[in-house]
Amino acid sequence: MFGIFGSLLGSFTNVVVLRMAEGRSVVFPPSACPHCHHRLSALDLIPVFGWVLLLGKCRYCRAPIAIQYPLVELTAALILGSSFWFWGGGPRLVPTAAWSMIWLIQTLLLIREEVAAPGPFLWPLGAFAFLTWWVGGAWESAWTVAPLVGAAAGGLATWGPSPGRFFPWFGVGTAAALAIPAWGWGGPIVLLGLAGAFPHCRGSWAEKALKGGLLIHLGTGLALAIRFGLWS
Ligand SMILES: [Zn+2]
Repeated sequence: MFGIFGSLLGSFTNVVVLRMAEGRSVVFPPSACPHCHHRLSALDLIPVFGWVLLLGKCRYCRAPIAIQYPLVELTAALILGSSFWFWGGGPRLVPTAAWSMIWLIQTLLLIREEVAAPGPFLWPLGAFAFLTWWVGGAWESAWTVAPLVGAAAGGLATWGPSPGRFFPWFGVGTAAALAIPAWGWGGPIVLLGLAGAFPHCRGSWAEKALKGGLLIHLGTGLALAIRFGLWS
């Protein structure tokens, strides 16, 4: 049940990320194919399976549908499903699942590089701060270390011949630091390395390799934090 709810949340995430980049409303109009503008049916919108049943092509014009859609839906399903699996219905379920979803969205925004404003990156951190305060017993140094790691990641990524954007890296760096109880300092250190390399490898195969590394970093951090928790 949690996995199914997660896949729907992932589907909504795709809509939000896409429309935020284009500056459009999240609620209206209903989803349509970006290529032929045909309105999508309920069957087309089933998370993961919709994409698989259509073999990754629009039902109406056969234009390819990005693999991002089913991948984000599947990841969100795994996040909510496994958070419940390991933490049950206890008080730590909501912060664990919320933090993981926030980190997924931050990484997605960073890789797509379309949203420049700090808004989308700051509200999730505020939401996470509230959740950990509400549950209590969060990692005690989190609120001093996390912004410093985030600022270091943002600083490194904006320093070089082809600078990246500050706030996406700030958000992802903060999230990596909050997961220190699960994966130690290795996670933030690898992320700082990726941030430092980013401005030097734009527009080449190395940029794709770096973004691939970022996805592996995200997957590892999510898995460890959901399994072992954000609390020391
Ligand atoms: Zn179409």
